[in-house]
Amino acid sequence: MKIYIAYTGGTIGMTPSEHGLAPDAQFADQLMQKLAAADDLNHDFVIKSYETLIDSSNATPQDWMMIAQDIENQWQDFDAFIVLHGTDTMAYTAAALSHMFEASTKPILVTGSQVPLYKVRSDAMNNVLGAISACEHQSPGVFLYFADRLIEGDRAHKAHTSDWRAFSSPNLAEYGRLGIDWQWRDVSPAKSEQAMRIRIPHMEAGAVTILPVFPGAQAEHWQGLLNDNVKGAVLLSYGAGNAPDKDQALLAMLKEATDRGVAIVNVSQCGAGSVVAGAYAAGSALVQAGVISGQDLTYEAAFVKLHFLIGLGMNHSAIRDIFEA
Ligand code: ASP
Repeated sequence: MKIYIAYTGGTIGMTPSEHGLAPDAQFADQLMQKLAAADDLNHDFVIKSYETLIDSSNATPQDWMMIAQDIENQWQDFDAFIVLHGTDTMAYTAAALSHMFEASTKPILVTGSQVPLYKVRSDAMNNVLGAISACEHQSPGVFLYFADRLIEGDRAHKAHTSDWRAFSSPNLAEYGRLGIDWQWRDVSPAKSEQAMRIRIPHMEAGAVTILPVFPGAQAEHWQGLLNDNVKGAVLLSYGAGNAPDKDQALLAMLKEATDRGVAIVNVSQCGAGSVVAGAYAAGSALVQAGVISGQDLTYEAAFVKLHFLIGLGMNHSAIRDIFEA
């Protein structure tokens, strides 16, 4: 196989600097040497180190677009793509790529590590080699691969700061698990019948925000978050999708925003499970205010999906139809 590996930054290729770990441009050569030394890897690798390597906590939608553009530019020349990325916002980038490469006919894997490659006790090679194995064995599509788990790109959630297993797939069984061999989840054929589409819309940083619900939340807390540039918001609600329905100012603020076309998507801060719109009166008030159900999406996936649909120029009602389909 011809495999294109893009190093965008992140711990996997970091080395110590004056201010702590920072991405290192030498990493591409070091990784290439390790891959070349592995006799049983019969692939042609190209490793591209991005000009500006970042800690992924600096990533913006601009970076998602740049990575997608890079993959699209290389599309014809490679069989599979691996994006090496920091873990902090890896779930967002994987979700963004899964929208931009809908029903991808080639594997696109996003991975990284908890400990840099240069350290003896590092998970870097385990993750890179597992991602390569996923490219070999399966299955077109965009996935996040980490600690032997293959997770659909729009299903992953960063769930641990320091465990090797940093990512979970809270609402869907993982697509694959790698032990000595792969174990695959049954996958519905409907998915593979979709035609592939590459769409890289312009996604404006700041077009989407996150509105946290917390005890004592007041309209003033959200005022700046729902500014005039915002076109979408993820409402991080309680439980099955609830927010305080006794605070009229808060509800009026949501209603006023949805009336001017802001798509507000309700996802639960529980971390797992689904929003059940209208199960409680406190949730019905959100429905009355025009809030859209994000169902069982992670907040990362809901945030990215809003960016993508807004970037495509969709209005509130088209966005609602897609989220609630
Ligand atoms: N702060 C790092 C990053 O997201 C963490 C990591 O890569 O694990 O780039």
